[in-house]
Amino acid sequence: MRLNCPRDGSILILPRESDRSTFSRHGIHHCDECSGMLLNADAASSTISEQKLNKMHDAFETEGDEINLDCPFCDSHMRVRKIVFSRIDGTEMDPIEIDGCPSCSSFWFDAGELQKISPPIVEYDANREAKALSIVMEMLMHLPFVIL
Ligand SMILES: [Zn+2]
Ligand SMILES: [Zn+2]
Repeated sequence: MRLNCPRDGSILILPRESDRSTFSRHGIHHCDECSGMLLNADAASSTISEQKLNKMHDAFETEGDEINLDCPFCDSHMRVRKIVFSRIDGTEMDPIEIDGCPSCSSFWFDAGELQKISPPIVEYDANREAKALSIVMEMLMHLPFVIL
């Protein structure tokens, strides 16, 4: 199954095609063009807290503004919501916008949103950035969050 980036139509890198271990372990699809990331709860359920992803999906199922972005999995119009994650020390990060599918449990993270909460990359390199962003995303999924 080929999945296309909802932003630019590029073919997303499937976990099994990727040599990046963080992607392959967590079922994250990545766009090499815009550095966005697709997370599918079904693919990730074995490694990422199911309860958290269900809570996140509920938030998109019930509310959120519809945006002009089609879900790479099921073609539904995605919705956008602002989510605030809490750091381990209890302080809150700046809110980030996440696009979610109201039908299936897919979430799209624009690179710019992940960059807001990731350490700055000194020397730009697409591969390095993808790795850095995947680590940020992995970390996020272990933190408590509230949906605004
Ligand atoms: Zn893209
Ligand atoms: Zn969907």
